Amino acid sequence: MATLAVHNEFNIYESADARFEAAARKLGLEEGLYRFLKYPNKEITVYIPVILDNGHLEVFIGYRVHHSIVRGPGKGGIRFAPTVTLDEVRALASWMTWKCAVVNIPFGGAKGGVICDPGKLSNGELERITRRYTAELIEWFGPERDVPAPDLGTNEQTMAWIMDTYSMHVRHTETAVVTGKPIDLGGSRGRHEATGRGVLINCDRAISRFRMMRVNTRVIIQGFGNVGSMSAKLLHEAGYKIVGVADIHGALYNESGFDIPELLEWVYKLRKPLPDFPGGGAKMTASEVLFQPAEVVIPAAVENQITTENAHRLQARILCEGANGPCTALADEIVDRKGIFVVPDILANAGGVTVSYFEWVQDRQGYFWSEREVNDRLKDVLEHSFDEVVRYAETHQVNNRVAAYMLAIDRVAFALKERGIYA
Ligand code: NAD
Repeated sequence: MATLAVHNEFNIYESADARFEAAARKLGLEEGLYRFLKYPNKEITVYIPVILDNGHLEVFIGYRVHHSIVRGPGKGGIRFAPTVTLDEVRALASWMTWKCAVVNIPFGGAKGGVICDPGKLSNGELERITRRYTAELIEWFGPERDVPAPDLGTNEQTMAWIMDTYSMHVRHTETAVVTGKPIDLGGSRGRHEATGRGVLINCDRAISRFRMMRVNTRVIIQGFGNVGSMSAKLLHEAGYKIVGVADIHGALYNESGFDIPELLEWVYKLRKPLPDFPGGGAKMTASEVLFQPAEVVIPAAVENQITTENAHRLQARILCEGANGPCTALADEIVDRKGIFVVPDILANAGGVTVSYFEWVQDRQGYFWSEREVNDRLKDVLEHSFDEVVRYAETHQVNNRVAAYMLAIDRVAFALKERGIYA
Protein backbone atom coordinates (compact mmCIF):
# COMPACT_ATOMS: atom_id res chain seq x y z
CA MET A 1 0.00 0.00 0.00
CA ALA A 2 1.26 3.50 -0.85
CA THR A 3 2.46 5.66 2.04
CA LEU A 4 -0.41 7.66 3.50
CA ALA A 5 -0.06 11.44 3.81
CA VAL A 6 -0.71 11.69 7.53
CA HIS A 7 1.29 14.13 9.67
CA ASN A 8 -0.64 13.73 12.91
CA GLU A 9 -1.81 10.15 13.41
CA PHE A 10 -4.49 11.27 15.88
CA ASN A 11 -6.13 13.90 13.71
CA ILE A 12 -9.14 11.97 12.40
CA TYR A 13 -9.65 14.43 9.56
CA GLU A 14 -6.19 13.50 8.28
CA SER A 15 -7.04 9.82 8.73
CA ALA A 16 -10.33 10.20 6.84
CA ASP A 17 -8.63 12.22 4.11
CA ALA A 18 -5.77 9.75 3.70
CA ARG A 19 -8.18 6.85 3.32
CA PHE A 20 -10.29 8.80 0.83
CA GLU A 21 -7.19 9.70 -1.15
CA ALA A 22 -5.87 6.11 -1.24
CA ALA A 23 -9.23 4.73 -2.40
CA ALA A 24 -9.85 7.54 -4.91
CA ARG A 25 -6.42 7.04 -6.49
CA LYS A 26 -6.96 3.28 -6.68
CA LEU A 27 -10.31 3.96 -8.32
CA GLY A 28 -8.64 6.28 -10.85
CA LEU A 29 -11.04 9.08 -9.90
CA GLU A 30 -10.52 12.05 -12.20
CA GLU A 31 -8.79 15.03 -10.62
CA GLY A 32 -11.78 17.43 -10.64
CA LEU A 33 -14.12 14.91 -8.99
CA TYR A 34 -11.38 14.06 -6.51
CA ARG A 35 -11.13 17.68 -5.42
CA PHE A 36 -14.90 18.09 -5.32
CA LEU A 37 -15.38 15.06 -3.03
CA LYS A 38 -12.33 15.68 -0.87
CA TYR A 39 -13.63 18.93 0.68
CA PRO A 40 -16.86 19.55 2.60
CA ASN A 41 -19.71 21.17 0.70
CA LYS A 42 -20.12 23.74 3.46
CA GLU A 43 -19.47 24.24 7.14
CA ILE A 44 -20.64 26.66 9.79
CA THR A 45 -19.58 27.66 13.32
CA VAL A 46 -22.28 28.95 15.65
CA TYR A 47 -21.85 30.72 18.98
CA ILE A 48 -24.60 29.66 21.34
CA PRO A 49 -25.46 31.98 24.23
CA VAL A 50 -27.04 30.11 27.14
CA ILE A 51 -28.05 31.23 30.61
CA LEU A 52 -26.74 28.58 33.02
CA ASP A 53 -28.72 27.49 36.08
CA ASN A 54 -26.53 29.75 38.26
CA GLY A 55 -27.66 32.80 36.24
CA HIS A 56 -24.39 33.28 34.33
CA LEU A 57 -24.34 33.72 30.58
CA GLU A 58 -22.07 31.16 28.85
CA VAL A 59 -21.31 31.01 25.14
CA PHE A 60 -20.86 27.52 23.68
CA ILE A 61 -19.32 26.81 20.27
CA GLY A 62 -21.12 24.53 17.84
CA TYR A 63 -20.45 23.26 14.34
CA ARG A 64 -22.36 21.72 11.47
CA VAL A 65 -20.64 20.39 8.37
CA HIS A 66 -22.26 19.21 5.14
CA HIS A 67 -19.74 17.03 3.42
CA SER A 68 -21.97 16.03 0.52
CA ILE A 69 -25.60 16.41 -0.54
CA VAL A 70 -25.09 14.77 -3.91
CA ARG A 71 -27.17 11.64 -3.24
CA GLY A 72 -29.74 13.22 -0.90
CA PRO A 73 -30.12 15.40 2.19
CA GLY A 74 -27.19 15.62 4.60
CA LYS A 75 -27.42 12.96 7.29
CA GLY A 76 -25.40 12.69 10.44
CA GLY A 77 -25.36 12.89 14.20
CA ILE A 78 -24.73 15.72 16.62
CA ARG A 79 -22.01 15.18 19.18
CA PHE A 80 -21.88 16.95 22.57
CA ALA A 81 -18.40 16.58 24.05
CA PRO A 82 -15.73 18.86 25.55
CA THR A 83 -13.18 17.71 22.97
CA VAL A 84 -15.20 18.38 19.79
CA THR A 85 -13.19 20.12 17.04
CA LEU A 86 -14.10 21.30 13.57
CA ASP A 87 -11.65 18.81 12.06
CA GLU A 88 -13.35 15.99 13.93
CA VAL A 89 -16.78 17.09 12.68
CA ARG A 90 -15.42 17.35 9.11
CA ALA A 91 -14.06 13.81 9.29
CA LEU A 92 -17.28 12.43 10.73
CA ALA A 93 -19.33 14.24 8.05
CA SER A 94 -17.28 12.69 5.26
CA TRP A 95 -17.63 9.24 6.85
CA MET A 96 -21.41 9.75 6.78
CA THR A 97 -21.25 10.37 3.03
CA TRP A 98 -19.34 7.14 2.46
CA LYS A 99 -21.44 5.19 4.98
CA CYS A 100 -24.74 6.16 3.34
CA ALA A 101 -23.29 5.29 -0.04
CA VAL A 102 -21.92 1.90 1.10
CA VAL A 103 -25.37 0.82 2.25
CA ASN A 104 -26.91 2.61 -0.74
CA ILE A 105 -29.43 4.83 1.03
CA PRO A 106 -30.41 8.20 -0.50
CA PHE A 107 -28.61 10.50 1.89
CA GLY A 108 -25.49 12.60 1.76
CA GLY A 109 -23.15 13.14 4.70
CA ALA A 110 -23.26 15.71 7.51
CA LYS A 111 -22.25 15.99 11.14
CA GLY A 112 -22.52 18.44 13.99
CA GLY A 113 -21.04 19.05 17.38
CA VAL A 114 -21.15 21.34 20.37
CA ILE A 115 -18.16 21.82 22.67
CA CYS A 116 -19.68 21.11 26.07
CA ASP A 117 -19.55 18.48 28.78
CA PRO A 118 -23.03 16.91 29.05
CA GLY A 119 -22.02 15.18 32.30
CA LYS A 120 -21.58 18.57 33.96
CA LEU A 121 -24.72 20.27 32.61
CA SER A 122 -28.26 20.04 33.95
CA ASN A 123 -31.14 18.85 31.80
CA GLY A 124 -32.38 22.41 31.52
CA GLU A 125 -28.98 23.67 30.39
CA LEU A 126 -28.72 20.90 27.79
CA GLU A 127 -32.19 21.75 26.52
CA ARG A 128 -31.31 25.44 26.16
CA ILE A 129 -28.04 24.61 24.31
CA THR A 130 -29.88 22.24 21.98
CA ARG A 131 -32.73 24.63 21.20
CA ARG A 132 -30.46 27.61 20.50
CA TYR A 133 -28.08 25.47 18.39
CA THR A 134 -31.13 24.34 16.37
CA ALA A 135 -32.46 27.90 16.04
CA GLU A 136 -29.05 29.09 14.75
CA LEU A 137 -29.14 26.32 12.12
CA ILE A 138 -32.80 26.58 11.20
CA GLU A 139 -32.06 27.20 7.49
CA TRP A 140 -29.64 24.29 7.38
CA PHE A 141 -31.92 21.65 8.85
CA GLY A 142 -35.00 20.16 7.20
CA PRO A 143 -36.24 16.77 5.96
CA GLU A 144 -35.00 17.60 2.44
CA ARG A 145 -31.86 19.45 3.58
CA ASP A 146 -30.12 18.00 6.58
CA VAL A 147 -31.45 15.43 9.03
CA PRO A 148 -29.52 15.17 12.34
CA ALA A 149 -29.42 12.17 14.68
CA PRO A 150 -27.87 11.30 18.06
CA ASP A 151 -24.16 10.68 18.54
CA LEU A 152 -21.80 10.78 21.55
CA GLY A 153 -23.41 12.75 24.38
CA THR A 154 -26.82 13.20 22.71
CA ASN A 155 -29.88 10.97 22.80
CA GLU A 156 -33.61 10.61 22.02
CA GLN A 157 -34.44 13.53 24.31
CA THR A 158 -32.02 15.81 22.42
CA MET A 159 -33.71 14.80 19.15
CA ALA A 160 -37.15 15.56 20.63
CA TRP A 161 -35.96 19.09 21.54
CA ILE A 162 -34.56 19.63 18.04
CA MET A 163 -37.79 18.40 16.44
CA ASP A 164 -39.85 20.68 18.66
CA THR A 165 -37.67 23.76 18.10
CA TYR A 166 -37.64 23.24 14.34
CA SER A 167 -41.42 22.65 14.33
CA MET A 168 -42.07 25.85 16.29
CA HIS A 169 -40.05 27.83 13.73
CA VAL A 170 -41.72 26.35 10.63
CA ARG A 171 -45.18 26.50 12.28
CA HIS A 172 -46.08 22.85 11.86
CA THR A 173 -44.94 19.60 13.41
CA GLU A 174 -42.14 18.21 11.26
CA THR A 175 -41.07 14.84 12.64
CA ALA A 176 -38.82 13.92 9.67
CA VAL A 177 -36.32 16.68 10.51
CA VAL A 178 -34.40 14.38 12.88
CA THR A 179 -34.08 10.65 13.47
CA GLY A 180 -33.43 8.73 16.65
CA LYS A 181 -36.52 10.33 18.25
CA PRO A 182 -38.67 8.74 20.94
CA ILE A 183 -41.13 6.29 19.32
CA ASP A 184 -44.24 8.28 20.28
CA LEU A 185 -42.82 11.36 18.51
CA GLY A 186 -42.28 9.60 15.19
CA GLY A 187 -39.27 7.48 16.09
CA SER A 188 -38.83 4.07 14.53
CA ARG A 189 -39.17 0.80 16.31
CA GLY A 190 -35.76 -0.85 16.37
CA ARG A 191 -33.78 2.42 16.03
CA HIS A 192 -32.41 2.28 19.56
CA GLU A 193 -30.88 -1.16 18.96
CA ALA A 194 -30.12 -0.60 15.26
CA THR A 195 -26.38 0.10 15.39
CA GLY A 196 -25.81 -2.84 17.74
CA ARG A 197 -28.03 -5.05 15.58
CA GLY A 198 -25.98 -4.00 12.57
CA VAL A 199 -22.80 -4.99 14.42
CA LEU A 200 -24.36 -8.42 15.09
CA ILE A 201 -25.37 -8.88 11.44
CA ASN A 202 -21.85 -7.96 10.31
CA CYS A 203 -20.23 -10.28 12.88
CA ASP A 204 -22.48 -13.14 11.76
CA ARG A 205 -21.48 -12.57 8.14
CA ALA A 206 -17.78 -12.31 9.06
CA ILE A 207 -17.60 -15.47 11.21
CA SER A 208 -19.43 -17.49 8.59
CA ARG A 209 -16.57 -16.75 6.19
CA PHE A 210 -14.23 -18.54 8.61
CA ARG A 211 -16.74 -21.34 9.31
CA MET A 212 -16.78 -20.22 12.95
CA MET A 213 -19.80 -20.86 15.20
CA ARG A 214 -21.28 -18.19 17.45
CA VAL A 215 -20.96 -20.38 20.55
CA ASN A 216 -17.22 -20.79 20.26
CA THR A 217 -16.60 -17.19 19.39
CA ARG A 218 -15.12 -14.96 22.12
CA VAL A 219 -15.87 -11.27 21.77
CA ILE A 220 -14.37 -8.14 23.33
CA ILE A 221 -16.43 -4.94 23.25
CA GLN A 222 -14.92 -1.57 24.16
CA GLY A 223 -17.60 1.01 25.04
CA PHE A 224 -20.84 0.33 26.86
CA GLY A 225 -23.04 3.17 25.59
CA ASN A 226 -25.66 2.84 22.88
CA VAL A 227 -23.53 0.90 20.41
CA GLY A 228 -21.42 -1.13 22.87
CA SER A 229 -24.18 -2.16 25.26
CA MET A 230 -26.64 -3.02 22.47
CA SER A 231 -23.96 -5.00 20.63
CA ALA A 232 -23.18 -6.84 23.87
CA LYS A 233 -26.86 -7.60 24.52
CA LEU A 234 -27.64 -8.80 21.01
CA LEU A 235 -24.43 -10.80 20.51
CA HIS A 236 -24.90 -12.43 23.92
CA GLU A 237 -28.52 -13.34 23.09
CA ALA A 238 -27.33 -14.76 19.77
CA GLY A 239 -24.91 -17.09 21.58
CA TYR A 240 -21.56 -15.30 21.31
CA LYS A 241 -19.37 -15.33 24.40
CA ILE A 242 -18.62 -11.77 25.58
CA VAL A 243 -15.26 -12.05 27.37
CA GLY A 244 -14.20 -8.40 27.48
CA VAL A 245 -16.17 -5.23 28.26
CA ALA A 246 -15.10 -1.63 28.84
CA ASP A 247 -16.31 1.89 29.29
CA ILE A 248 -14.65 5.17 30.16
CA HIS A 249 -14.07 3.99 33.77
CA GLY A 250 -12.10 0.87 32.83
CA ALA A 251 -12.46 -2.70 31.60
CA LEU A 252 -13.01 -6.29 32.66
CA TYR A 253 -11.81 -9.48 30.97
CA ASN A 254 -13.20 -12.88 31.85
CA GLU A 255 -12.29 -15.92 29.75
CA SER A 256 -15.52 -17.69 30.82
CA GLY A 257 -17.73 -14.88 29.56
CA PHE A 258 -20.00 -12.32 31.22
CA ASP A 259 -23.65 -12.51 32.09
CA ILE A 260 -24.62 -9.52 29.95
CA PRO A 261 -28.20 -9.02 31.26
CA GLU A 262 -26.72 -8.78 34.77
CA LEU A 263 -24.04 -6.36 33.59
CA LEU A 264 -26.67 -4.21 31.85
CA GLU A 265 -28.65 -4.08 35.06
CA TRP A 266 -25.51 -3.20 37.04
CA VAL A 267 -24.59 -0.30 34.76
CA TYR A 268 -27.99 0.98 33.64
CA LYS A 269 -30.43 0.19 36.45
CA LEU A 270 -28.15 0.32 39.47
CA ARG A 271 -25.94 3.01 37.89
CA LYS A 272 -22.75 1.39 39.20
CA PRO A 273 -19.30 1.68 37.57
CA LEU A 274 -18.73 -1.06 35.00
CA PRO A 275 -15.30 -2.12 36.37
CA ASP A 276 -16.87 -2.82 39.80
CA PHE A 277 -19.25 -5.43 38.34
CA PRO A 278 -19.21 -8.35 40.79
CA GLY A 279 -19.67 -10.96 38.01
CA GLY A 280 -15.95 -11.77 37.89
CA GLY A 281 -13.11 -10.81 35.59
CA ALA A 282 -9.70 -9.20 35.66
CA LYS A 283 -9.69 -5.40 35.87
CA MET A 284 -7.67 -3.48 33.30
CA THR A 285 -7.71 -0.25 31.34
CA ALA A 286 -10.24 0.27 28.56
CA SER A 287 -7.37 0.32 26.08
CA GLU A 288 -5.70 -2.85 27.36
CA VAL A 289 -8.81 -5.00 26.94
CA LEU A 290 -8.65 -4.69 23.14
CA PHE A 291 -5.48 -6.78 23.09
CA GLN A 292 -6.68 -9.74 25.16
CA PRO A 293 -7.39 -13.14 23.57
CA ALA A 294 -10.63 -13.28 21.56
CA GLU A 295 -11.78 -14.10 18.05
CA VAL A 296 -13.68 -10.82 17.58
CA VAL A 297 -12.83 -7.34 18.83
CA ILE A 298 -15.46 -4.59 18.63
CA PRO A 299 -14.18 -1.10 19.49
CA ALA A 300 -17.46 0.78 20.10
CA ALA A 301 -16.37 3.82 22.10
CA VAL A 302 -14.24 6.59 20.59
CA GLU A 303 -11.67 7.24 17.86
CA ASN A 304 -7.97 6.39 17.72
CA GLN A 305 -7.95 3.32 19.96
CA ILE A 306 -5.89 1.13 17.63
CA THR A 307 -2.70 2.93 16.62
CA THR A 308 0.79 2.30 15.25
CA GLU A 309 1.88 1.90 18.88
CA ASN A 310 -0.44 -0.99 19.73
CA ALA A 311 -1.95 -2.52 16.56
CA HIS A 312 0.67 -5.30 16.53
CA ARG A 313 -0.75 -6.53 19.87
CA LEU A 314 -4.21 -7.35 18.49
CA GLN A 315 -4.97 -11.04 18.88
CA ALA A 316 -8.38 -11.10 17.19
CA ARG A 317 -9.15 -12.65 13.84
CA ILE A 318 -11.98 -10.21 13.15
CA LEU A 319 -12.08 -6.47 13.90
CA CYS A 320 -15.61 -5.12 13.67
CA GLU A 321 -15.58 -1.32 14.07
CA GLY A 322 -18.67 -0.27 16.03
CA ALA A 323 -17.22 3.19 16.66
CA ASN A 324 -16.31 5.71 13.97
CA GLY A 325 -12.58 5.79 13.31
CA PRO A 326 -11.40 3.51 16.16
CA CYS A 327 -8.34 2.56 14.10
CA THR A 328 -5.97 5.25 12.83
CA ALA A 329 -5.21 5.31 9.11
CA LEU A 330 -1.53 4.64 9.83
CA ALA A 331 -2.44 1.54 11.85
CA ASP A 332 -4.44 0.08 8.93
CA GLU A 333 -1.32 -1.33 7.35
CA ILE A 334 -0.26 -3.18 10.52
CA VAL A 335 -3.75 -4.64 10.95
CA ASP A 336 -3.69 -5.64 7.29
CA ARG A 337 -0.29 -7.33 7.58
CA LYS A 338 -1.54 -9.35 10.53
CA GLY A 339 -4.25 -10.73 8.24
CA ILE A 340 -7.08 -9.51 10.46
CA PHE A 341 -10.46 -9.47 8.73
CA VAL A 342 -11.71 -5.89 9.15
CA VAL A 343 -15.35 -4.88 8.95
CA PRO A 344 -14.71 -1.13 8.50
CA ASP A 345 -16.69 1.43 10.47
CA ILE A 346 -18.58 2.76 7.45
CA LEU A 347 -20.09 -0.72 7.08
CA ALA A 348 -19.95 -2.14 10.63
CA ASN A 349 -21.89 0.68 12.33
CA ALA A 350 -24.17 1.53 9.39
CA GLY A 351 -27.15 -0.17 11.07
CA GLY A 352 -27.91 3.10 12.84
CA VAL A 353 -28.13 5.27 9.75
CA THR A 354 -30.01 2.56 7.87
CA VAL A 355 -32.79 2.50 10.45
CA SER A 356 -32.60 6.32 10.59
CA TYR A 357 -33.42 6.20 6.89
CA PHE A 358 -36.35 3.87 7.69
CA GLU A 359 -37.49 6.35 10.37
CA TRP A 360 -37.37 9.24 7.88
CA VAL A 361 -39.36 7.18 5.35
CA GLN A 362 -41.97 6.23 7.97
CA ASP A 363 -42.31 9.86 9.18
CA ARG A 364 -42.85 11.08 5.65
CA GLN A 365 -45.40 8.35 4.95
CA GLY A 366 -47.07 8.78 8.34
CA TYR A 367 -47.22 4.99 8.41
CA PHE A 368 -45.16 2.98 10.89
CA TRP A 369 -43.68 -0.48 10.56
CA SER A 370 -43.50 -3.30 13.08
CA GLU A 371 -40.18 -4.00 14.78
CA ARG A 372 -39.91 -7.22 12.82
CA GLU A 373 -40.32 -5.35 9.51
CA VAL A 374 -37.61 -2.88 10.52
CA ASN A 375 -35.21 -5.62 11.60
CA ASP A 376 -35.85 -7.75 8.49
CA ARG A 377 -35.23 -4.81 6.17
CA LEU A 378 -32.09 -3.88 8.11
CA LYS A 379 -30.77 -7.42 7.76
CA ASP A 380 -31.42 -7.38 4.01
CA VAL A 381 -29.61 -4.07 3.55
CA LEU A 382 -26.58 -4.95 5.68
CA GLU A 383 -26.10 -8.51 4.45
CA HIS A 384 -26.24 -7.26 0.88
CA SER A 385 -23.80 -4.42 1.65
CA PHE A 386 -21.39 -6.73 3.48
CA ASP A 387 -21.39 -9.15 0.54
CA GLU A 388 -20.86 -6.31 -1.94
CA VAL A 389 -17.87 -4.96 -0.02
CA VAL A 390 -16.22 -8.37 0.35
CA ARG A 391 -16.82 -9.22 -3.30
CA TYR A 392 -15.41 -5.83 -4.34
CA ALA A 393 -12.33 -6.46 -2.18
CA GLU A 394 -11.75 -9.84 -3.80
CA THR A 395 -12.30 -8.55 -7.33
CA HIS A 396 -10.01 -5.55 -6.92
CA GLN A 397 -7.46 -7.27 -4.66
CA VAL A 398 -7.75 -4.68 -1.88
CA ASN A 399 -8.66 -4.95 1.78
CA ASN A 400 -12.23 -4.49 3.01
CA ARG A 401 -11.71 -0.90 4.13
CA VAL A 402 -10.31 0.25 0.80
CA ALA A 403 -13.08 -1.71 -0.95
CA ALA A 404 -15.80 -0.02 1.11
CA TYR A 405 -14.37 3.42 0.34
CA MET A 406 -13.95 2.63 -3.36
CA LEU A 407 -17.52 1.35 -3.64
CA ALA A 408 -18.87 4.41 -1.84
CA ILE A 409 -16.77 6.97 -3.72
CA ASP A 410 -17.72 5.37 -7.02
CA ARG A 411 -21.44 5.66 -6.17
CA VAL A 412 -21.19 9.30 -5.13
CA ALA A 413 -19.00 10.19 -8.15
CA PHE A 414 -21.46 8.46 -10.47
CA ALA A 415 -24.39 10.47 -9.03
CA LEU A 416 -22.34 13.64 -9.29
CA LYS A 417 -21.55 13.02 -12.96
CA GLU A 418 -25.22 12.26 -13.68
CA ARG A 419 -26.33 15.49 -12.02
CA GLY A 420 -23.56 17.47 -13.68
CA ILE A 421 -21.69 20.37 -12.15
CA TYR A 422 -23.82 23.50 -11.74
CA ALA A 423 -21.33 26.23 -12.43
P1 NAD B 1 -22.38 6.70 23.88
O1 NAD B 1 -22.10 8.06 24.35
O2 NAD B 1 -23.74 6.12 24.06
O3 NAD B 1 -21.34 5.64 24.52
C1 NAD B 1 -19.95 5.80 24.48
C2 NAD B 1 -19.33 4.73 25.37
O4 NAD B 1 -17.93 4.77 25.24
C3 NAD B 1 -19.63 4.90 26.87
O5 NAD B 1 -19.80 3.63 27.44
C4 NAD B 1 -18.36 5.55 27.40
O6 NAD B 1 -18.15 5.28 28.78
C5 NAD B 1 -17.34 4.88 26.55
N1 NAD B 1 -16.09 5.61 26.41
C6 NAD B 1 -15.91 6.94 26.22
N2 NAD B 1 -14.61 7.22 26.17
C7 NAD B 1 -13.95 6.06 26.33
C8 NAD B 1 -12.58 5.68 26.35
N3 NAD B 1 -11.62 6.59 26.20
N4 NAD B 1 -12.28 4.38 26.52
C9 NAD B 1 -13.26 3.45 26.64
N5 NAD B 1 -14.56 3.74 26.63
C10 NAD B 1 -14.89 5.02 26.47
O7 NAD B 1 -21.97 6.71 22.32
P2 NAD B 1 -22.46 5.71 21.19
O8 NAD B 1 -23.65 6.30 20.53
O9 NAD B 1 -22.48 4.32 21.71
O10 NAD B 1 -21.27 5.89 20.13
C11 NAD B 1 -20.05 5.16 20.25
C12 NAD B 1 -19.32 5.24 18.92
O11 NAD B 1 -20.14 4.71 17.89
C13 NAD B 1 -18.94 6.65 18.46
O12 NAD B 1 -17.75 6.55 17.70
C14 NAD B 1 -20.10 7.01 17.53
O13 NAD B 1 -19.74 8.02 16.60
C15 NAD B 1 -20.32 5.67 16.87
N6 NAD B 1 -21.64 5.47 16.26
C16 NAD B 1 -22.78 5.58 17.00
C17 NAD B 1 -24.00 5.31 16.39
C18 NAD B 1 -25.29 5.33 17.18
O14 NAD B 1 -26.33 4.95 16.61
N7 NAD B 1 -25.29 5.70 18.45
C19 NAD B 1 -24.06 4.97 15.05
C20 NAD B 1 -22.87 4.86 14.33
C21 NAD B 1 -21.67 5.10 14.95
